[in-house]
Amino acid sequence: MPLAFEHETKGQRVLFGSGAAAGHLRDEVARFAALRPLVIAADRQRGLIERAGLAGAVRYHRITEHVPVEVAEDARAAAAQADLVIAIGGGSAIGLAKAVALTSGLPIIATPTTFAGSEATDVWGLTERGQKRTGVDPRVLPRTVVYDAELLESLPVELAVASGLNAVAHCVDSMWGPRADPINAALAMAGLHSLAVGLPGVVAEADRDAIEQSLYGCYLAAVAFASAGSGLHHKICHVLAGAFNLPHAATHAIVLPHVLAFNAPYAPRAAEQIAQALGSGDACQGLDELRARLNAPRALRELGLAEDDLAAAAQAILPQVPAANPRPVEADTLDRLLRAAWAGDQPRMESHP
Ligand code: NAD
Repeated sequence: MPLAFEHETKGQRVLFGSGAAAGHLRDEVARFAALRPLVIAADRQRGLIERAGLAGAVRYHRITEHVPVEVAEDARAAAAQADLVIAIGGGSAIGLAKAVALTSGLPIIATPTTFAGSEATDVWGLTERGQKRTGVDPRVLPRTVVYDAELLESLPVELAVASGLNAVAHCVDSMWGPRADPINAALAMAGLHSLAVGLPGVVAEADRDAIEQSLYGCYLAAVAFASAGSGLHHKICHVLAGAFNLPHAATHAIVLPHVLAFNAPYAPRAAEQIAQALGSGDACQGLDELRARLNAPRALRELGLAEDDLAAAAQAILPQVPAANPRPVEADTLDRLLRAAWAGDQPRMESHP
């Protein structure tokens, strides 16, 4: 196969080390010569904030999933005098920091406490009247990411599973995203391998090495995803989570095996690489086994989605299906996929005609 592609690498400093977040944050604030940082973080991060020498900084803790515009406006007002934004938390805290950076251009230091991966992307999201808008802007890419596995030891198991599978979804969707290329694929498959090795240990005993391995995988996954762009899986989840207010990570965890089963027969090389990264002879079976070990959520109806909403969801998803998806998506095949994910059925693997 000829090798010809265009790949963009996004510039970012990454500091990785368990127990090192306070020191790394302190050093980075000095490196930015910031005098008035705004810290976006939940109360549980007070100890870290103090150890990082940030006890005197303005702190914002009204963090809501999917970044409602009114929360974004409030945080922007709190950042009026700031010269740096520090986000410590999951995708919601980092998403709020991105909303601030989007209008102010302030640099962000992100310290993630989940596996969502927002810290490694230049994608922002804002929700207004039930509609989630997303966009890409270089200003929202955190300048520095501080990873510390200790911060994820408090993450409840079901959130670790859901956000870990969100990272797995970044890997899988990178294989057929609109800007998929061999560099993205290499990063995504290395990430998928780390996640498959690490996540079972995170769930079984919140083991430090397992969290480190998973965090490393989540970073590679997000870098690949940021470069490849949203594929079919992310388009589906984006509509479902935004329009029906479903939890982001759990929605990904449920929909992913259905999208993989849908696309895999039409993307045999990607399926082979996914299988290999999962240490399985078959991509769908490998994902199924990983999900079983993680006791992953199975049904959208358990998240509160009504069956009557599926038709409206399909209508909203269809126009957003990426043109480059390896398999054409029609109303009836999408309807079958959504119904199976809603009911928690075993994903249907159909062979390529
Ligand atoms: P989240 O940030 O909403 O966190 C979920 C819950 O877990 C919250 O109650 C939070 O307080 C709690 N929590 C987080 N870390 C914890 C810890 N270490 N210990 C205990 N509790 C902890 O969830 P998420 O899945 O990380 O992020 C979801 C959001 O991120 C969505 O809005 C999604 O759209 C966005 N996201 C954006 C991108 C991007 O590239 N822009 C990528 C992934 C996710």
